[in-house]
Amino acid sequence: MWDDKESVKTLSEGVLENDKNKGLKYCPCRITTGDKEKDLNLVCPCNFKIQKTWKEYGECWCGLFVRRK
Ligand code: SF4
Repeated sequence: MWDDKESVKTLSEGVLENDKNKGLKYCPCRITTGDKEKDLNLVCPCNFKIQKTWKEYGECWCGLFVRRK
């Protein structure tokens, strides 16, 4: 299991890498389709409060955003 700092660092780097390579700050743990319209839903931060992981565990799909304890 990652500690919080390592997790945030790795996920943030993924977002920045997507920005550099794909032109937008896409989610680091989801794969873009190449369809710009569809991929806009993958820009970070997404609408994570509707995700099951947020409702059940208080985290976005990737765990970059977590509910305050
Ligand atoms: S908020 Fe979380 S799930 Fe949503 S795009 Fe960012 S890292 Fe991915």
